[in-house]
Amino acid sequence: MGKYNNLFRNIIAPPKRITFLVTNKCNIECDFCCFACNPRNNSFINVDDVKYFIRKAMTEFNIKYVVFSGGEPFLHNRIHELISYATKNGLGTRIVSNGFWGAAINLEDVVSTLKSSGLTELNISAGYFHQKYIPFDTSIKAALYASERGIRTLITLENKKNQPVKLKDYIIELKKIGKKYNKDYKELILTNTLAIPNNKYNEAYNSEFVQEMTLCDDLFQGLTVNFDGSLKVCCGIKNQVNNIWKTKSRSMKQFYKRITSEHLLQSIYSFGPKITLKKLIKGFFPFNHPCEFCEQIMKNISKFELIEKFSEKDFVDILRIAKEIHH
Ligand code: SF4
Ligand code: SF4
Repeated sequence: MGKYNNLFRNIIAPPKRITFLVTNKCNIECDFCCFACNPRNNSFINVDDVKYFIRKAMTEFNIKYVVFSGGEPFLHNRIHELISYATKNGLGTRIVSNGFWGAAINLEDVVSTLKSSGLTELNISAGYFHQKYIPFDTSIKAALYASERGIRTLITLENKKNQPVKLKDYIIELKKIGKKYNKDYKELILTNTLAIPNNKYNEAYNSEFVQEMTLCDDLFQGLTVNFDGSLKVCCGIKNQVNNIWKTKSRSMKQFYKRITSEHLLQSIYSFGPKITLKKLIKGFFPFNHPCEFCEQIMKNISKFELIEKFSEKDFVDILRIAKEIHH
């Protein structure tokens, strides 16, 4: 199988980005938070670890992009230093936040500091579950101010079954808020990840502007470093996936070699989580998000003897599809 794994590794593109989950602390406690972040958590990533992994990822994988997520990354008191470090190394940066800082009296200064640290992209989560804690006006205000300063700004609007807010209603709201602060709302990019309340999958609502996601856009395309300094297989929302494939070792190359040799992960990459699950277990799974399928796979992982379940043709197909994805 060594030869097959080398073939697979040579086909797929090396990781282009590194994601840091800089803390497990959050100022709020969304019902659906899959990382179980909350104000009581208090772990923060070590700044020297971040710098070390950025350097490593640049030399070993030629990465181009650094993502800072959490928890709420703005609670890390050296987040600007980390953004600046990546910028000075010629990398693009993205930060994923709930936008609570839109309420700051000195919002202009907050955004100026962000801009001068070199931040390229801001993702604000402001959907149903976030609005329970942070007024929509506040998150959108943060987004509008950042966007005006030339930071590419994307707003994620997760939704909930039975309480759907239509895209057109969001746009009406954005218009109003834009007018209130005299900012151009049209620059904002709207997107939606599906809300997946912990253990309440049936409540997830597939809103009109969500495409069904069949492939994972993170696995093998990025590497993730947890707030405790461990390397994780993906920035996926399901910890179970990462509990199996995570390491405290600091060798990214070795870690990458190990995870790209896992047939289950190869299958998730090429066939996607949904088809992989179907190949392994019979049944109907009413999930909407790829990470949910992964979670189900991982829950049953001890039952799988993947090599036995997969035919020769499956392995040929994995290589073929991986090639297609790459080109
Ligand atoms: S804002 Fe994000 S990190 Fe914080 S509790 Fe909500 S989902 Fe979790
Ligand atoms: S779909 Fe699976 S592999 Fe991809 S990010 Fe989600 S949990 Fe990770």
